[in-house]
Order: sequence, then structure tokens, then C-alpha cells
Amino acid sequence: MKTIAILGSTGSIGTQTLEVVRANGDIRVAALAAGKNIKLLEQQIREFRPRLAAVADEEDAKALKMAVADLSVEILFGEEGREAVAVCEEAEILVTAIVGMIGILPTVRAIEAGKNIALANKETLVTAGHIIMPLAKEKGVKILPVDSEHSAIFQALNGEDSRAIDKILLTASGGPFRGKTFEELKKMRVEDALKHPNWAMGRKITIDSASMVNKGLEVMEARWLFGTDLDQIQVVIQPQSVIHSMVQFKDGAVIAQLGTPDMKLPIQYALYYPERRYLAGPRLDLAALGKITFEDPDPETFLGLKYALEAAKTGGSMPTVFNAANERAVSKFLDRKIGFTDIYTIIRSCMDQHHVVANPDIRQILETEQSVYEFIESRW
Ligand code: NDP
Repeated sequence: MKTIAILGSTGSIGTQTLEVVRANGDIRVAALAAGKNIKLLEQQIREFRPRLAAVADEEDAKALKMAVADLSVEILFGEEGREAVAVCEEAEILVTAIVGMIGILPTVRAIEAGKNIALANKETLVTAGHIIMPLAKEKGVKILPVDSEHSAIFQALNGEDSRAIDKILLTASGGPFRGKTFEELKKMRVEDALKHPNWAMGRKITIDSASMVNKGLEVMEARWLFGTDLDQIQVVIQPQSVIHSMVQFKDGAVIAQLGTPDMKLPIQYALYYPERRYLAGPRLDLAALGKITFEDPDPETFLGLKYALEAAKTGGSMPTVFNAANERAVSKFLDRKIGFTDIYTIIRSCMDQHHVVANPDIRQILETEQSVYEFIESRW
């Protein structure tokens, strides 16, 4: 029986991870961490009986403790709570399904404690890939991708020598605004941006998909996960979201992973790797689908991709600036304080005023994040 812990159990990836656990019946859940949704967390505690659970704030921790007083579960809060969940003794795998840079520290602690990581939290590799990957290697732990594109690449590489990679073809749906002009993007509202054509995801990543920031973050993530150069990663728009990504090898062969858009597949693959298990749900009907189409991305309109690639090329602390600026800008957009294309303006301004720190350590990454937030708050 496998034992896991989950950071972000109440979110989109977290709840789908628990669906996979429920459907398989042979994974024990030792610890759960969530943010503010203590109602759902209480239900999860009652169903999965973890030994430990954590929430963001002390007040919520008190309320949750009272609500589950009839059960033997320890309730913690804040950074200490998240780290306790991350290093929870019984768990072999930590699922990092938390959103934002808050995921970095607990992930580092879990790797230090020898846990394999089922990685959904992309901010971890984007900002600290240069620390995480060597640390994982040193500790002999696996970083198992949960992001569907990275899982697809991981599956395409199964049994292959990574030195045989010519390039990674990272697919993108293009999001709800594919084909729009920059002038049209300016008018897009929160409701429009939250309508992803193919995937049901958390709010932040759905906005990132609309701005193509998400694809930029995924390029950075892929570079660290698969050890390729940036120029070996090509973004290809594939609007039907049927091909989840592909690898082109040195002999010209291209291996792709296809499937219906269901995050439970990459989640289950990461939890049971290298075993492939039955997963209920619809199957691809290629004849009914008729065709799969491809386009080049438009980085001059979708500046999120352009700026991400620039940040990745600059390296050091710049990916952290890109990510933190986007995180705060998206939150302002969701609160209806700024327009859609202001997300790009904020990212650009933050990148322009930043003095790059080469090879930043975790403390410098978190300091950079804070300074970006302060800069944004002083201006917007
Ligand atoms: P959601 O917004 O749906 O969920 C985020 C989770 O993080 C929630 O459980 C939330 O808790 C929790 N959380 C927030 N703040 C804290 C905190 N301070 N302490 C503990 N937990 C906290 O996000 P997603 O599931 O969509 O995304 C999670 C990560 O996975 C992101 O990095 C995203 O980019 C990545 N990802 C997501 C995909 C998807 O399909 N959704 C696909 C690929 C990657 P609460 O709700 O209780 O406040």
C-alpha cells in the first residue's frame, strides 16, 4: 500500500488526486494541507482519515480542530503546518497541488526528507529549478510530473535515453482568446478569461492559459525536468487538446501522448509510476474527432509567452520576477482591479526594473518575490 501526503488537497488537482485515491482503494493518505476551505477539508479528513492536516491561518485551524474533535487528527497551520505535511514520516510521495510560490519551501523540505514528489506546483521549478533538480538527484528522489504536458513528455521518454532528444514539442490549446488581436484582448473580462475551451482547472492557471503565461511557465518547467536547452523546446498550438505533448528524437521520430483532457490520468500515472492502471472515463474517438490541427503561437499578441521566454533566457532571479509579477497581477485581474492586458504591463515593468541575481538561493528567491510584490503595490 502506498502512502501519500497532499499540499493543496481542496483545489482542482488536490480533489482530483483524492478521486484517484478513492477509485483505486490502495493508497493511504497520511497528511493533507489546504488554505481556507475548511468545510471541504473536514469532509476529506472524515473520508480519508489522515494523521495530520494543516490550514493557512490559526483561526481556521482552531475552527477545524473543534469540527473534527471526535477524530484523532493533529491540526496545524501556516508555514510550519505545510512543512509538517511535506515531511510527514509515513508518506513516500508528496503531491504538490498548492498554488503559488508558497509551494517551494515545503517541496525542498520533502526532498530533503527523501520523499518522491508528484509535482503539480509549477512555480517550484520555474523559480528554483536550479536548486530542486540537483537536490532531488543528490537525495535520490523522483520528481514525477503531474502537469499534463510534462506527464506526456515523461511518458514519451519512457525507456528512451534523454540524450537522444532532439526537441520537445510542447502543445498548447491557445486558450479562450486564440486568434484575438491585442486590441480585442484589452476588452476581455474575468468571465471571458475563465472560459477555457477544453480544461476545467483552478482560477489562476485558467487565467494563465488565457494569457499564455502558463505555456511560458511550462517551457521553464520542462527545461528543468528534462534537462534540455531552452531552444530545444518548441511551443505548438493544438487547439483540440488531444495531443498533450510530443518528443522529437535525433532520428526524426516523434512520439506523442494523446488522450481526453482529464487530469486524473497524469495524476494517477505519477502516483503509480511506472505502473499503468485502469482509469475510468471517456476514451478518444479519433474518427469522431476527424482532425487534429496545429498552429504556431502568436507571442507578439500573447506577450505572456514572449516575456516568459525572455525571463527564462535571462535566468537567475528573472523567472521569479516573471512569476511573482504574474501571480500578483492575476490576483488583481480576478479582483477586477486591472484589465486583462495590464497583466502584461505589470510583468514588463517588474522585469525592467529588476537587477538580476545570478544563481539565487531560496532566501534570495523569496526576497525577490517580496520585492516584486512591494513594487507592484506601490504602483497599482
Ligand atoms: P487551485 O486554486 O484549484 O487550488 C489551490 C490549492 O492550494 C487549494 O487547495 C488551496 O486551498 C491551496 N492553498 C492556497 N493557499 C494555501 C496556503 N497558504 N496553505 C495551504 N494551502 C493553500 O489550484 P490548481 O489545483 O488549479 O493548481 C495547483 C497547482 O497545480 C498550480 O501550481 C497550477 O499551476 C498547477 N497545475 C494545475 C493544473 C490543473 O488542471 N488545475 C494542471 C497543471 C498544473 P483552499 O482552496 O482551501 O484555500
